Amino acid sequence: MAQQDERQAPPAHPEHRTTTVEQGPFCFARCVCGWRGPARRARSQARTDGAGHHPPVPNL
Ligand SMILES: [Zn+2]
Repeated sequence: MAQQDERQAPPAHPEHRTTTVEQGPFCFARCVCGWRGPARRARSQARTDGAGHHPPVPNL
């Protein structure tokens, strides 16, 4: 009779969207979760920082 509503716990950060921000000669990555990466001289490095700022979600 009673329907059990089992919901899966939502992930801590449902979405990570990183963008690179240029600041003078430097560039850093920023994410919608509030994370901010260190200033880099290479935009590619900043992007790499952004991609690795959170642990990869295990694919079950
Ligand atoms: Zn994030």
